[in-house]
Amino acid sequence: MARQYRITLLPGDGIGPEIMSVTVEVLKAIAPSFDLEFTFTEAPIGGVAIDATGNPLPEETLKMCQNSDAVLLAAIGGYKWDNLPRNQRPETGLLGLRAGLDLFANLRPATILPQLIDASSLKREVVEGVDIMVVRELTGGIYFGQPKGIFATETGDKRGVNTMAYTDAEVDRIARVGFETAKKRGGKLCSVDKANVLDVSQLWRDRVVALAAEYPEVELSHLYVDNAAMQLVRAPKQFDTIVTGNLFGDILSDAAAMLTGSIGMLPSASLGAPGKPGVFEPVHGSAPDIAGQDKANPLAQILSAAMMLRYGLDQPAAAEKLELAAIAVLDAGYRTGDIMSEGGKLVGCKEMGEALLKVL
Ligand code: NAD
Repeated sequence: MARQYRITLLPGDGIGPEIMSVTVEVLKAIAPSFDLEFTFTEAPIGGVAIDATGNPLPEETLKMCQNSDAVLLAAIGGYKWDNLPRNQRPETGLLGLRAGLDLFANLRPATILPQLIDASSLKREVVEGVDIMVVRELTGGIYFGQPKGIFATETGDKRGVNTMAYTDAEVDRIARVGFETAKKRGGKLCSVDKANVLDVSQLWRDRVVALAAEYPEVELSHLYVDNAAMQLVRAPKQFDTIVTGNLFGDILSDAAAMLTGSIGMLPSASLGAPGKPGVFEPVHGSAPDIAGQDKANPLAQILSAAMMLRYGLDQPAAAEKLELAAIAVLDAGYRTGDIMSEGGKLVGCKEMGEALLKVL
């Protein structure tokens, strides 16, 4: 019997519906060959949800997500909603979704495809073959630690405070995602901290070292965050999987992403507790400047669907099929405007989707 999955689709705003529709067609096309059956249900989030209900994350949308096996999100936001009060902005819907599903782990790959190597800002010999996954803690650390705020001091000066704090349980659960991810990839995990200066980082390092005993097949190393930043641009090929806290991960995942040079190609995954639905979405936004013009690159959304299959539904063979299809259309010369280069065949979102279906 076919394995059944309930997938909640959140197309959102801007180019979201365009790239989502291509992705759903592609998922439908590969399902039978892997004995999979998807039930897709669509729900509003972001600007479209504000227009329809006044709320960027309607309760029914969150419930539907909580009751599904995985959530495929496109992008939210646009000029129209930029000046609303903060609690009614599209981004508030996204934060609500992360909190509502307790998504504590964010996975962002930076893979250099040979076909797009010239899009990188670094030299070919430095980036050729780069394949990194950054695992970032998403719900703790300095973005959430208490106390936080701007306080008046006795001298009348103001003092801004944020607190970087992690409990051992918080470190353990993200470290486990790091080890498990490394196991599914090249078997190397680099934990990034600032243990030479920060006590919170010392706890982080102690816990990661303690857990390593449970993962003998993973080769563990440690770097201080300043050195990690340097190594990422000096010799990125040394990295396989990186695990780090919220603040360091925010910065390092953007730096790693830029090694690839093309925002329309970058997927991401946010995971919660094992067995709970994750959210899989492109790194890019809703691109309102090209929305509705059939110009969007659907590949980041397709690769997000591949991450959903691999990390959300444990269907690595189907994931690989999608990844290879994305590479095949690039090999065949198809390019959307954002990744266009000399000799490429310029196509729109729909035609890129048709090319993918042909390859599959
Ligand atoms: P953006 O990523 O939407 O666009 C940046 C540039 O990249 C634009 O020129 C755009 O045309 C291009 N681009 C992005 N994705 C592309 C694709 N798939 N194919 C081709 N070109 C693509 O970032 P922005 O312009 O800063 O933000 C636009 C809106 O998106 C804002 O409302 C912002 O808040 C929102 N946003 C949402 C998310 C999300 O949903 N997770 C993330 C970032 C920004």
